Amino acid sequence: MVDLISQYEKIQPEIDKAVLDVIRSSAYINGPDVKLFQAELENYLGVKHVIPCANGTDALQIAMMALGFQPGDEVITASFTYVATAEVIALLKLKPVLVDVNPDTFTLDPKAVEAAITSRTVAIVPVHLFGQCADMDAIMDIANRHKLAVIEDVAQAIGANYYSNGNSGSKKAGTIGTIGCTSFFPSKNLGCYGDGGALFTNDDELGKKIRMIANHGQSVQYYHDEIGVNSRLDSMQAAILRIKLKHLDDYATARQQVADYYNKAFANHPNIKTPVRFKNSDHVYHQYTLVLQNADRNKLREFLATKEIPAMIYYPVPLHLQKAYRDPRYKEGAFPVTEKLCSSVISLPIHTEMKEETMKYISQSVLDFFN
Ligand SMILES: *Cc1c(COP(=O)(O)O)cnc(C)c1O
Repeated sequence: MVDLISQYEKIQPEIDKAVLDVIRSSAYINGPDVKLFQAELENYLGVKHVIPCANGTDALQIAMMALGFQPGDEVITASFTYVATAEVIALLKLKPVLVDVNPDTFTLDPKAVEAAITSRTVAIVPVHLFGQCADMDAIMDIANRHKLAVIEDVAQAIGANYYSNGNSGSKKAGTIGTIGCTSFFPSKNLGCYGDGGALFTNDDELGKKIRMIANHGQSVQYYHDEIGVNSRLDSMQAAILRIKLKHLDDYATARQQVADYYNKAFANHPNIKTPVRFKNSDHVYHQYTLVLQNADRNKLREFLATKEIPAMIYYPVPLHLQKAYRDPRYKEGAFPVTEKLCSSVISLPIHTEMKEETMKYISQSVLDFFN
């Protein structure tokens, strides 16, 4: 699905040196690269505070801890997402309130969000799924009217610009809501060589609190004001991310070129719906996801496998039908769009080093299946 080796080979001398420098410095935890990466990412995103942490799931958990939510508080998120989003809500004994997504963009349906609000609702967690932003104008409007926090899950869309309605400027995904949370898992658009994550916020107080919670609830060493967690980005990962951050926009362009190629190849095909770009957002194509119409997805996958083409299903089971998240509130049929997507989406390989002959081979193979 991704080719991290070829990507590494292009920046190998720089990466190797950076990693060796960290080893030789012995500043493995909280070394200078962590602070420098933080500052560089703040600058890139145009956000006041970046707080690095150990992974994207931790980022979401720390965000909800920092906002002081209490057990039983309700947090609204999408039924079509990676499990991490709902997992931390449940872990903190908050109540996940799932809502359906838009059938074209796969992101939170604002009307469904508004309908799900109760007196216990404290936050909305839009997931910028597959590389483009949710409808943040509508979501921020709802949040402002109901005084709710907005935690953006930007694990799949770092670097995407969001263009607000009637506003000539743009903001980076993850810097629009109260807190943005991201992951630097290797295959993410900005990936390190292990685990990593970060939170973003423009709120000074919240920035301090997040930093404290990620560091055992201490702002002064050995004085613990809150119950926190231990969640750090290590120096070696930060050193790697500093290098890869410089390439992030080029990486997005490379992914967009693959998507453009696929889009042309599949245009107007009766069985294939290509990704729909939301007009207010860039699409940085963390995934290139097709919706199949009147087609046997398993057979297509098997056919592609015989041609050594991997294809993945993100995600095969909606959250509300997962064993761990079964809830009498949500029966089968509760979220028709999500359920339909889970049975009809398929993601094709997309990465920064894809050669045109590979794009051609993959798209032709998909087309051959239908012929
Ligand atoms: C990857 C991902 C996460 C979790 O990130 P980890 O670093 O693996 O913990 C959370 N949300 C979404 C949407 C993701 O894609």
